Amino acid sequence: MWRDPAKALPRSGPCLRSGDIRMRVAVIGAGYVGLVSGVCLADFGHRVTCIDTDGHRIAALARGKIPIFEPGLDALVAANVRGGRLAFAADLAAVSGADAVFIAVGTPTRRGDGHADLSFVYDAVKDVAPLLAETAILVTKSTVPVGTGDEIERIVRRQRPNADIAVVSNPEFLREGTAIEDFTHPDRVVIGTDDARARAVLADIYRPLLAAAPFVYVGRRTAELIKYAANAFLATKITFINEIADLCERVGGDVEDVARGIGLDERIGPKFLRAGPGIGGSCLPKDGLALIKTAHDHGMQLRLIETVCGVNEARKRAMAGKIAAALDGSVRGKTLGVLGLTFKADTDDTRDSPSIALIAGLLDLGATVRAYDPAGMAQAKLLLPAVNYCNSAYAAAAGADALVIATEWRQFRTLDLVQLRRVMAQPLIVDLRNVYDLEHMKRANFRYVALGRSERAAVAVRMQRQRLRALSA
Ligand code: NAD
Repeated sequence: MWRDPAKALPRSGPCLRSGDIRMRVAVIGAGYVGLVSGVCLADFGHRVTCIDTDGHRIAALARGKIPIFEPGLDALVAANVRGGRLAFAADLAAVSGADAVFIAVGTPTRRGDGHADLSFVYDAVKDVAPLLAETAILVTKSTVPVGTGDEIERIVRRQRPNADIAVVSNPEFLREGTAIEDFTHPDRVVIGTDDARARAVLADIYRPLLAAAPFVYVGRRTAELIKYAANAFLATKITFINEIADLCERVGGDVEDVARGIGLDERIGPKFLRAGPGIGGSCLPKDGLALIKTAHDHGMQLRLIETVCGVNEARKRAMAGKIAAALDGSVRGKTLGVLGLTFKADTDDTRDSPSIALIAGLLDLGATVRAYDPAGMAQAKLLLPAVNYCNSAYAAAAGADALVIATEWRQFRTLDLVQLRRVMAQPLIVDLRNVYDLEHMKRANFRYVALGRSERAAVAVRMQRQRLRALSA
């Protein structure tokens, strides 16, 4: 059942309040999804406890330290802790008495076979089942393959045969970097259950969003599939424009203009049409693999998605070659500055980041790498200890034969090119995020290698502009 938005919520201003409906909510897993969901639900007015088995994480939260980088999260956590709506616990016993318990633990790729590793989910369910209230709603927010809700229900029934506990799928679509905005102004809220009581409780929990977002009420298996289908579609869209970028380089077109030209078609839309170094992050790559495995388990092949995943992985590996090509074919013995380590801007998350794969490839090829990231250096140091980590973009560029823009942080869009030229060994920028204008770089006397934006296309645009100027003179 669809419920269309009656009116949009304000994008800023006082936080949302549910008024009379205040639930007791527990969130298991205080990571990128659990912590954001927990604090936003607290901000709706519910009483929320975020529980995590990582004692250090909970101790840090209790001291007011936020364990992840997410814009606006620290202030929202502080306000809701102060307001008595948000608490943290390392002990699962904190779920007792909760009306709804959200599971938001990780579902990484299982080592060796590509399936989603559901051990964190099932461990949490086994541990929490004996502690749940008689009529609690157990909500899976983690991204889990179709049928996982059925297995969770079996585990709960085995342990609590006489309780009336409903198991619901409520996948999360927030994006790191804009997580609070995404949670409080979602494109939709998907609630997967056939249980009318559970549906009513979830509707009450999300009541502040009722006027702002469509609610999609579906069966549990369908809800689980919606999440994977959404991520597979997004991965396909990005992979598509990446291939078009490669073609632009060969034939002399500009992928930015192609993306705009097709994105203005309402059937296509402008989002997720930015060419880049390949899809990364903690979701799209692993969810694509898990979806492929789900299909295999059911005797079928998702050939399109298999191709998307394969093309994407090959692209990440090919990026080191692109940099080598810009340096006369080899990076051996060269010094490279790399700006950006996280998989996207405004997060500290380096999981499956194309930048990490790129740097590993460059090191393997014999380069020396100097790197800077505004938030991702702590995580990257654990993955790539051989990199020389610097405290600014200019320090990373010092003595470099080429500077690579690997993540589209805002501060990398406005670099002081005069200062860069001064510190670099030679003026070469390889921009894997297409954040600069070709002409601008030319005027600054940089050799500029971008994705899918050939000099030939830039010359054509320049000539067309000159013709138009001449005509209007
Ligand atoms: P995360 O690794 O940041 O957080 C998971 C947390 O769960 C960790 O802090 C871990 O200590 C804790 N945990 C593990 N087992 C536990 C247990 N038994 N009891 C209590 N805590 C436990 O993961 P994440 O990025 O927040 O992702 C969580 C889920 O949400 C995944 O399924 C992911 O696919 C999905 N998701 C993630 C995003 C995203 O942008 N990160 C967006 C949408 C959906």
